Amino acid sequence: MIANINFVKEIMGELKAKKKFGQNFLIDANIVDRIAQKACDDDLKTIEIGPGLGALTEMLLKYSKDVDAYEIDKDMYELLCKNIDDERLTVYLEDFLDTDLSKYKEKVNICGNLPYYVTTPILFKLFESDLDMNKITVMVQKEVGDRLAAKTGSEDYSALSIEVQYLYDVKQEMNVSRKVFYPSPNVDSIVVSFTPIRERDREFEKGFFEFVKNCFRMRRKTLHNNLKDLYDNETIEKIYSECDLKSNVRAQELSLEEFLRLYNTVIEK
Ligand code: SAM
Repeated sequence: MIANINFVKEIMGELKAKKKFGQNFLIDANIVDRIAQKACDDDLKTIEIGPGLGALTEMLLKYSKDVDAYEIDKDMYELLCKNIDDERLTVYLEDFLDTDLSKYKEKVNICGNLPYYVTTPILFKLFESDLDMNKITVMVQKEVGDRLAAKTGSEDYSALSIEVQYLYDVKQEMNVSRKVFYPSPNVDSIVVSFTPIRERDREFEKGFFEFVKNCFRMRRKTLHNNLKDLYDNETIEKIYSECDLKSNVRAQELSLEEFLRLYNTVIEK
């Protein structure tokens, strides 16, 4: 089992975990097994981001058809190739942000204990890709996970929460203590999954997401204040009456469905 503190220390030898690559290795086999079970399907390929020493990789192999893993660090790449000998595993020494995902024509699952310094660009790369995705299951910093899954009215609810929840069923799968990593990071983590729920319509999404961002432009101001520089009075009045909004409503009080109704009113005008 790779997810084991003695094994990790032994295999690292003189090597130090590299902060610049966000290296914190999982050392609890039970947690790793649970993540892999949530992330994988027997008959699907899993793409892994940042396999490191292979703690998660070996469990992904247990529950997937095969695994393609992308690792940026040559030291990790070499150790991983040594640690796991399985013809169903292909390891690429590659920055995942440069990976051409269009080569994948089959349906895939995506999984990773994401390096924290690059979590947002990796997630956006996935959200914007044309991959035929069954599910994304990733470990992220707890506060990032809270923002992505935030519900209407909560402090963490933002344009990002609405955009992500428009495209995916976002689920907080499990909290993970900082104690199950070596070296231990300063923050706790959470495993979050994203299951696609829509046919993609890029043009609609572009306009809708822009609209939502504008509604949240100044969080403490009312929605009316945020809209008044962008739309004429007539449009704003129409939005308020058709959507039955209180005059002092703020963006963070509106649900995804209400945002969709508002935006459809704006574009119908
Ligand atoms: N999966 C391992 C585990 O759970 O023990 C390691 C996780 S560690 C948090 C993140 C891993 O991602 C490291 O191995 C790091 O070298 C790798 N990494 C960092 N940036 C990357 C990038 N842009 N593309 C691919 N891998 C990256």
